[in-house]
Amino acid sequence: MAWFDLHRHLEGSHSPRALLKVAGEFGITHALFGRSEAELARELVLAEPSDDATKFYACIVKARAAYVSIPAVKALALEAFREAADDSDGFEMRLSLFSMTRTLLENQKRVWRDVKPVEFAEAFARPLLLAVIEARDQAQREKNKPMLLRLGLSRTFESDSHYVALGEMVKEHAASLVGLDVLGIVTGVDTEPLPEGLLRVLESMRRSLPDLTIHAGEFAGHASVDRTLALQPRGVGHGVHSVQSNATLERLAKEGVTLEVCPTSNHLLIPSALAALKRDHTQGATPLVALQKASVHCVLGSDDPTPMGTSFTREREVARESGVDLAKLEADIMRRWRELSR
Ligand SMILES: [Zn+2]
Repeated sequence: MAWFDLHRHLEGSHSPRALLKVAGEFGITHALFGRSEAELARELVLAEPSDDATKFYACIVKARAAYVSIPAVKALALEAFREAADDSDGFEMRLSLFSMTRTLLENQKRVWRDVKPVEFAEAFARPLLLAVIEARDQAQREKNKPMLLRLGLSRTFESDSHYVALGEMVKEHAASLVGLDVLGIVTGVDTEPLPEGLLRVLESMRRSLPDLTIHAGEFAGHASVDRTLALQPRGVGHGVHSVQSNATLERLAKEGVTLEVCPTSNHLLIPSALAALKRDHTQGATPLVALQKASVHCVLGSDDPTPMGTSFTREREVARESGVDLAKLEADIMRRWRELSR
């Protein structure tokens, strides 16, 4: 048995220590890095819970200032994998390749929309992906712990043609990846949309990367989870709003879909929704406790440990303190790990 962190994002795993180390090594002169580790932490860590997700996103954007070159991203990824390994028995890390590539171009003073889709994918996204895979392989050898990589696609879906080109390129590296994820913070009426163009890209990529996870039921209600289940994902990121509906809970349990629950993330990003779920649907229990009671398979994740000021070790403690059945949690982690290792 082992404790694997099964919901963690690379862009949210750049610690102040690692950022300052890489900024020093690569001579990054951005003002953000001209300060102490403690001062940088104040810039990158959420101060308090807020229903305004843009505050969280601002922390992620700040850390991306260090994405100045492919070697710099590789060094940052290596540090993130090492730290995640020290914090778990192994993990699955999500990589938002489109947004990382876009940021790299922006930091090099290029207008990404002016870069043709095939050039975007071949000259920038591919070397970036290869650098992250190499960093993962190196960290895996050093730490002797299993490290899986999942490719995240953002529902912000900024460009049909760039996503298509990126998807075609990624298929050639499917052997180094474990699956696909849909993620992204969107403001508007629908906070968890599934754009049609994105679904087409997903459908094409799934022939090479069948294991799909989708962030849903985090910012939106159980109907968003229901809509997601139509795509037959193997995992749902968060999915805590499922406790609103017995039908949704029954379907998750019956179809064996795993919810990836990140307690501190929910506490910080959806405080009002979380309070309402506990008040109206779980008799005061945390969603993870209620989901386990409903026989839904759940695993645990640190999500974005840097902005959330947490770690996987800490999430285990938070789960234990809230009354989670740790034996069941561990068994579900192993169950999901076996699915991923097939
Ligand atoms: Zn997430």
